[in-house]
Amino acid sequence: MNPAPPNALVALPLMDEVARQTYPAATLYVLATPIGNFADITLRALHALALVDAVACEDTRNTGHLLSHYGLSKHLIAAHQHNERAVAEKLIARLQAGERIALVSDAGTPAVSDPGARIVDAVRAAGLRVLPLPGPSAAIAALSASGLVCDQFHFVGFLPARASARALALQQLRAAAATLIFYEAPHRINETVDALAAAFCPRRQIVFARELTKLFEEIHRCPLSDAAAWVAADTHRQKGEYVLLLEGAPPAADEDDAEAERVLRILLAECPLKQAAALAAQITGHKKNALYERALRLKAESEQTPIN
Ligand code: SAM
Repeated sequence: MNPAPPNALVALPLMDEVARQTYPAATLYVLATPIGNFADITLRALHALALVDAVACEDTRNTGHLLSHYGLSKHLIAAHQHNERAVAEKLIARLQAGERIALVSDAGTPAVSDPGARIVDAVRAAGLRVLPLPGPSAAIAALSASGLVCDQFHFVGFLPARASARALALQQLRAAAATLIFYEAPHRINETVDALAAAFCPRRQIVFARELTKLFEEIHRCPLSDAAAWVAADTHRQKGEYVLLLEGAPPAADEDDAEAERVLRILLAECPLKQAAALAAQITGHKKNALYERALRLKAESEQTPIN
């Protein structure tokens, strides 16, 4: 059972202070909205939403529904990926007339794997003010809870849907030392996990951040070699929204070593141990004896725990 809230309305006195802040007119407010839990919105964003003359949004039904949670009803202007340039002209005319307009997407931060960048570009080019109201973003939420220790991250967003283009994009990321962050649509999670497993060393850590801030939130970390089995272990995991984080490349020597092991594992699945070691030596340039020793170790390990 949840403990009784200490004071559920603790934020209300703060709202006066929030209202006393400056909210310039003739300004586009790029405003982040929740990625699942409607309570994840800042006080400043709530006040701005109450104040603006209109809200430009990806989907008027979704945004209307969100606003009604906060007891708000606003003039909504559809601004999606197919009409961004055209709608920007309309917004510019309204901003020039002195209006305040909020720009939101369906979830999270606009212009991050979402429409918005073209509108912001056009509004700035027209010499008008753009003010960000920061808040939720699935990538940052996932990174913060991943436990992957790295000072850098590389936000990839959605990979190409076509297998060949996706494989090429992943090849180009193989040497990146930064944590890699991917967005993925639920119906493609299996394909993406397979593509990652084919492209990267199986020992790299992957973090699944699923349904963040929602009822069935799951954050799971494992070696890439175990990723497909984790997804397959529960049919619910074929559904829901995912951020995938992949540990960055280890220093070059380790990476080279890891690549040799990846090649060796593939060959071991197809040919006898001695032949696998010889072929791996030809492909990778590593010493045949060292690869033979490693193949023996891998074989012994796989007899204890089958390789997935
Ligand atoms: N603009 C948003 C942001 O700031 O994160 C991203 C929008 S993008 C169209 C949607 C993708 O974000 C989903 O396919 C998923 O990869 C990720 N995402 C959004 N909400 C999520 C959530 N609650 N849990 C996990 N991933 C989420």
